[in-house]
Amino acid sequence: MTDLPIDWTTEGTARRRDTYYAATQTKFVPFKDPIVFRKGQMQYLWDAEGNKYTDLLGMNVCISVGHSHPKVVAAAQAQAADLTHCTTMFYHPVPAHLAEELAATMPKGHDWVVHFTNSGAEAIDLAMTIARTYTGNLDLLALRTAYHGPTAAAQSVTGISTWRHPGMPGNVAFVADPNQYRGIFGENAGAAPYLDEIERTIATATSGRIAGMLVESVQGYGGIIEMPEGYMSGAAERVRAAGGLYIADEVQSGFGRTGDHMWGFEADGVVPDIVVMAKGIGNGFPLGAVVTRKDIAAPMAEKFMFHTYGANPTSCAAGRAVLQVIREDEVQENARTVGAALLKRLHELKDKHEAIGDVRGRGLMLAIEMVKDRRTKEPDRETTSAVFENCRASRLILSKSGPTQSVLRMVPPMCLSLADVDEVAEGLDRAFTALG
Ligand code: PMP
Repeated sequence: MTDLPIDWTTEGTARRRDTYYAATQTKFVPFKDPIVFRKGQMQYLWDAEGNKYTDLLGMNVCISVGHSHPKVVAAAQAQAADLTHCTTMFYHPVPAHLAEELAATMPKGHDWVVHFTNSGAEAIDLAMTIARTYTGNLDLLALRTAYHGPTAAAQSVTGISTWRHPGMPGNVAFVADPNQYRGIFGENAGAAPYLDEIERTIATATSGRIAGMLVESVQGYGGIIEMPEGYMSGAAERVRAAGGLYIADEVQSGFGRTGDHMWGFEADGVVPDIVVMAKGIGNGFPLGAVVTRKDIAAPMAEKFMFHTYGANPTSCAAGRAVLQVIREDEVQENARTVGAALLKRLHELKDKHEAIGDVRGRGLMLAIEMVKDRRTKEPDRETTSAVFENCRASRLILSKSGPTQSVLRMVPPMCLSLADVDEVAEGLDRAFTALG
């Protein structure tokens, strides 16, 4: 235990944040009034006053197998006590084991290799660099409602304007998101018109030869946008025909979260050239990774590339324990069954509450989208905010997402239970009913 004093009062923390946090860290806050979390255990959180919440956000999808999961904590504690950090250039077995174990989760028949980073954005940056180095092409494609991270390069492939700042590098063309609820080609338009759009974009907004395309297998901050059947595989075909690589961003959708598969891209049978992962890989310990084929990574050996905390053995020990827990606790199966039960309850809420325009998602990656009018589908940001605030009284933590902040996103720790589903559905119902 540390003997450094900690002021657990909400007022004290709020005052310190207001005084000492830079403006860059002040906008991204959830509730109108501050909340301080003191403890987390599996799918639950406790605030500084001792109130218990069900965490439907998983601390932004980082908590994959449960807050402070005892096996993950024990693995990290043991490694931190022995050797907290070992810089990548020295050999250590723990990251090497994790690389082997991650490679084993990838589609069979390829030589998969791993580069560990500190975060998802770093992994995205590296994936962009690998694609440009391997293909010799500069242009990349990304989706308009994509989010790929806060670094300059990751922002350059992030479509949502509220996450983009001045001064990002270029050579990125954006294609329409194949949103089956409100996409530009209308409701349930399928993949085909959006695949044509990829071809048109390559022909008219790039040099015709591209480095690759980034696709979140299920979009997270975009508001849980699933890729329609045939989109990921069709996109990969078109991208490869233009000399590029297909890059799957699994930062939110990976590690069994979609219920049916370990990786979101598997739903469409596509084998990506590069897979980017982070967040859930460490269950809260900072870690990211780029997984790609050996031949694609090979030209990178020409230059130095070094992420100081990539392959940090403490985070990698946590990562190994996460993979073990996913296997032993049948986490993916739980995401599938509990997710299906929650989705059913969300549909019942839609039948009852006119403000809900759409309910979607798979596994434990779910969302409800609020509209002012179900026919015009005008996004309803205000109702979303109000329901979100009301959820605090229901002791539910979720997230406002989507380019217009009109989606409530649910990405809980994957140990959420069927008993929780009842409480969540009832809590959400109260939050809508309280709107009056
Ligand atoms: N890709 C996706 C899909 C993400 O959701 C995020 C983070 N929200 C990132 C990349 C970037 O990860 P990080 O915040 O660890 O840099």
